[in-house]
Amino acid sequence: MTAQVLDGAAMAREALSGLKDRIAALARNGVKPGLATVLVGDNPASRVYVRNKVRACGEVGLHAEVHELPADVTAAALLTQIDWLNANPAIHGIIVQLPLPRTLDAQSALQSIAPGKDVDGFNWSNLGALVDGHPRLAPCTPLGVMAMLARANIAIEGRHAVVIGRSSVVGKPLALMLIAHGATVTVCHTRTRDLAAFTRAADIVIAAAGRARLLTADMVKAGAAVIDVGINRDETGKLVGDVDYEAVKAKAGAISPVPGGVGRMTVAMLVSNTVLAAELQTRGAAEA
Ligand code: NAD
Repeated sequence: MTAQVLDGAAMAREALSGLKDRIAALARNGVKPGLATVLVGDNPASRVYVRNKVRACGEVGLHAEVHELPADVTAAALLTQIDWLNANPAIHGIIVQLPLPRTLDAQSALQSIAPGKDVDGFNWSNLGALVDGHPRLAPCTPLGVMAMLARANIAIEGRHAVVIGRSSVVGKPLALMLIAHGATVTVCHTRTRDLAAFTRAADIVIAAAGRARLLTADMVKAGAAVIDVGINRDETGKLVGDVDYEAVKAKAGAISPVPGGVGRMTVAMLVSNTVLAAELQTRGAAEA
């Protein structure tokens, strides 16, 4: 069997073009959704991610601006910048690009973003809403995985999904979304004994560990859907995911590549969240 390849680039294009009617409806009310990214320091990978986000916003007519701060910025100056964006009516979504320099506390920056503008979905009130089954602005990578499964018509209800990784950014929110869609979910992590015993029993495996080629073909059930969230450099410097792609592709029913998989969907979901935030803020203003 050769797996169906889940083309994240094509799916992201479809997801973005699916936002056009909502963006046009906002425009009729004089609203152009705006995304502000706060970029601290000079991490080259962060620069690439930010450029991709700005480009995706531009593709569908959103406003995007980047606020660059030096690596030695104080915590107080960073919070002042976020407060200013919180109060700026032209900005509907705010993200702080991670990682931050070690001298800064990422949580206090993330938690200072107004919940209604928190388009990365990391604010505790948004994460709490997700736990309670009433998601508002939810984290983009898990949303991207769910959108990918939906677009590929991969059934979730009643299936066994194994998520490798328990971070607050990917693994945990993704597990909540899969539960909400009726999956039976196992979350594996560094302390899991016999990871392969869990993954072999899974109908859907989502690898979000950040370990190059962690998931090998012998760990996957024939016909399973395998989604690769990981972004790693292998020993030769090549960009690879957490899945041993070629070998697993020969056994799985569906597989997402790296690059060209979940990463593209993550960016599309950020744009989607910015449109949603603009809609919620516009509705809120009309009701006030
Ligand atoms: P993280 O380091 O915060 O968490 C990794 C998780 O994987 C941890 O919970 C850890 O327990 C688990 N883990 C690590 N090694 C393991 C092993 N050998 N066996 C079982 N579990 C193991 O990372 P994160 O922020 O959740 O990101 C995970 C990966 O996804 C990274 O490679 C990251 O770059 C990538 N990522 C990609 C996107 C995207 O848009 N494609 C977005 C976010 C993160």
